[in-house]
Amino acid sequence: MVVVGAGFGGLSTAILLARLGLGVTLVEGASRPGGCLRSYSRQGVDCPVGVHYFGAAAPGEMLGDFFDLLGIRQELKLRRLGQGGIIDRYRFDDGDVFDLPDTAEKLEDSLRARFGDTPAAVAFVMDVCRAAMASLRTSAAGSSAPPALPVTRLAADILAEKALPPRLVDILALQGFLLGVNLSACSASFLMMATASLLMSAWELGCSGADLANCLVDRARAAGVSLIVGDPAVTVEVNDRRVRGVRLQSGTGIAADTVVAGIHPKTMVAMIPAEALPAAYREGIARLEETGGSLGVVALLDEKRHPALGHNVFRVRGTPRQSVKGVYAQLRPSGRPGTNRLTLLTESDYASWAAWHGTQSGRRGPAYHAEKLRRAQQAMADVADAVGSIQQPQIIDIWTPLTMRDWVGAPQGNTYGARHSIRDGLEYLVLSRPPLDGMFLVGQSALAPGLLGVSMGVLHVASAIAGRAAVRDLMAASCSATRGS
Ligand SMILES: Cc1cc2nc3c(=O)[nH]c(=O)nc-3n(C[C@H](O)[C@H](O)[C@H](O)COP(=O)(O)OP(=O)(O)OC[C@H]3O[C@@H](n4cnc5c(N)ncnc54)[C@H](O)[C@@H]3O)c2cc1C
Repeated sequence: MVVVGAGFGGLSTAILLARLGLGVTLVEGASRPGGCLRSYSRQGVDCPVGVHYFGAAAPGEMLGDFFDLLGIRQELKLRRLGQGGIIDRYRFDDGDVFDLPDTAEKLEDSLRARFGDTPAAVAFVMDVCRAAMASLRTSAAGSSAPPALPVTRLAADILAEKALPPRLVDILALQGFLLGVNLSACSASFLMMATASLLMSAWELGCSGADLANCLVDRARAAGVSLIVGDPAVTVEVNDRRVRGVRLQSGTGIAADTVVAGIHPKTMVAMIPAEALPAAYREGIARLEETGGSLGVVALLDEKRHPALGHNVFRVRGTPRQSVKGVYAQLRPSGRPGTNRLTLLTESDYASWAAWHGTQSGRRGPAYHAEKLRRAQQAMADVADAVGSIQQPQIIDIWTPLTMRDWVGAPQGNTYGARHSIRDGLEYLVLSRPPLDGMFLVGQSALAPGLLGVSMGVLHVASAIAGRAAVRDLMAASCSATRGS
């Protein structure tokens, strides 16, 4: 079989299926594998791209067991987030601050203290949170509980039915930032899972994103995966409504009866001959909206003026229950003496970079650099009331949706792939299953984004290809081997 795209989705699918005995070739178009996972170095400082923090990664939790399945836990040197009792600090325009604590018990106390006059609302939120946590706990048989809420119900509808206080809705809506979708289009189930995963256990990497990517590549090679890098797949070969292989840009053809696309669905569809897919499917994929793009800023700050924080800060802009906007900030040790590393992420519309759409990374000229700097300074000013006024920052890098477009082939530099909207009923979920024998889609557009969302989608596809029992047995054996060691 062939896996196209060596991001977290493609790499983990390749490892898993090779360990289950399939012959796997993994094809990556970029010069280095890893996709969004891979961090890069500037002035000796590791600059993270697509891994800042994640939840449910303790043993016995969904992502934790997935790491054990891949055999990568030790190398990740995972660090628990929220040692000071806080995972995220949200600061709203009106100066109100809410701290997302590190356990469900503390969240319940905090919500009762704040929203004591609506006890039924608090009880509802805690019930669905706890149910979502149960659905992310694993057993040898996989997830042990059903999702807390129906995947196909809109978060906005369910929260409206329960008449929650508006600020409580704002707090819940903020997790949509990590899914790239606003409350009005977000699955209630996924929204609660995002919150629940952090309450179970929140983590950050103790290694770099580049180390994580390299470790996955090592595991893939050790499992027997044959890796081709720097040669994008351009065509999926199809005969008689069944995939037959893949052709690469170099002209190399690889025969295969199974092709797993770990790439954006629009890129996948463009690779499949038009007549091989029903028009309704092609048109549906073309209609999918994208998640937004982001601007990333990495700067060094004086560690005395700006001590490292053990939690994240989100300076929220506007009204999250309508639209999630703002600047996410992490202030962590940089590895360079006397400094801490400030990482900022804020939404940035692809269209607003239209003047440079036809250009390539590294060749965009001084006007682009000036515009990046202007926006980075604005983001730093925006978080000042949440992390303190930023003194003498040494900006070491700024990236835009155009950078992401060129780095991982995301069509509009979108942060979380195609938008996971369930506004049109089941449209998204149905479209993510290509109606072509032997063709599968994994990665952040397939089921849900983020390491957790991608891992869930990979397990789903691996089970469809190799059988649920085989995946379950491998997971049980891998987890008990890790825990025994
Ligand atoms: C700025 C940012 C911050 C994030 N923060 C977090 C976070 O804190 N926590 C979290 O859990 N998640 C986070 N995410 C999301 C997470 O990084 C992604 O969901 C995940 O890494 C996506 O993996 P993927 O395999 O789906 O796609 P990608 O990483 O995009 O990988 C796709 C790969 O396919 C390759 N490719 C594309 N076209 C072709 C082709 N034709 N042939 C061959 N190869 C091809 C690309 O080069 C790329 O390597 C973040 C993402 C971004 C962008």
